[in-house]
Amino acid sequence: MAPKNPSVRLRPDIESLPTYVPGERPTVGMQVYKLSSNEIAFPPLVAVGAALVDAGADLNRYPDMYATELTEVLGARHGVGAERVTVGNGSVAVLQHVLSAVCEPGDEVVMAWRSFEAYPIAVQVAGARAVMVPVDAEGRHDLPAMAAAVTERTRVVLLCSPNNPTGPALTQTELRAFLAAVPASVMVVLDEAYIDFVTAPDPTDGPALLGEHKNLVVLRTFSKAYGLAGLRVGYALARRRLTAGFRAASTPFGVNIMGMAAALAALQAEDQVRARVAEVITERDRVAGALREQGWTIPDPQGNFVWLDLGRRATAFADHTRSRGVLVRAFAGDGVRVSVGEPEGNDLFLSLAGEWAARSARTLERA
Ligand SMILES: *Cc1c(COP(=O)(O)O)cnc(C)c1O
Repeated sequence: MAPKNPSVRLRPDIESLPTYVPGERPTVGMQVYKLSSNEIAFPPLVAVGAALVDAGADLNRYPDMYATELTEVLGARHGVGAERVTVGNGSVAVLQHVLSAVCEPGDEVVMAWRSFEAYPIAVQVAGARAVMVPVDAEGRHDLPAMAAAVTERTRVVLLCSPNNPTGPALTQTELRAFLAAVPASVMVVLDEAYIDFVTAPDPTDGPALLGEHKNLVVLRTFSKAYGLAGLRVGYALARRRLTAGFRAASTPFGVNIMGMAAALAALQAEDQVRARVAEVITERDRVAGALREQGWTIPDPQGNFVWLDLGRRATAFADHTRSRGVLVRAFAGDGVRVSVGEPEGNDLFLSLAGEWAARSARTLERA
């Protein structure tokens, strides 16, 4: 007999998905600094605005399905052919397509943890299982432990450098050693979303290793340094055979006309992008220095954000800054990530962090 109230069944692993918590948005009418989503605080470049106005005239048409011009420009920029570029609606969407092109039920995906919260969700949606390897006390990937976590079930390893949300970056030397340690049948995805902000020596250069390592995939995005988070454009670089698979698994017309036009305009205005990145780096180093002077111990910030290892007090800290007009991103029970924003926002955040540190010091003295 048929059940009385038949209903559509969701896949159990979809029903049990952790939800992605977006950075908080400001309440209308209050002066608020949004330091919760690692965005660039500058308004869009003038050249991007002009390109969007032009592109708007063609909105009744589908975009170029293959994003020919964008993939050619990106391929040339990274010294690889256009046939090694997969573009998509943000690099998180590209990652989803990459995983769904290789993962089958029961496959394992090794990642550092804590790392980008979109990863476990993407892995589960792809039907695979996340194997999380704790970052070390400095918030760095534990690469030997990650290599040791690879089994016959492992299809993919995800590396995030600089790591969101803890901040440290891998070096090219570490990356080379890791690629040498992992079987060539295991895909290694290197997410370089924040690569433009790295100032530590020997930065990773994923694209330079594509020739040597046919299992390497590099993810890049226009959401951070290029300041186009709202338009959703990201891409993967990989060998031709893998790229063909990623493209086959991708949503058709995944990058829209506006996103394509804006990305091309931003690439043409690279000098201005670099100048802005330099300002963000200066602010980041100022914020990190001031926090350390206040007594905070923070991992080496190589992105456009800093990490406060607040443990159980993470949420209370975020409540404290929110009540005073600064939105930060709390990971309950773990820590708080604070994006580098405009100098006034950073100053306000620093004064709130200073108050907190002073209060904690007094509490410790009394204890
Ligand atoms: C912000 C971010 C991205 C970018 O995602 P988009 O979908 O391109 O906006 C990718 N990876 C990490 C680790 C990030 O923090």
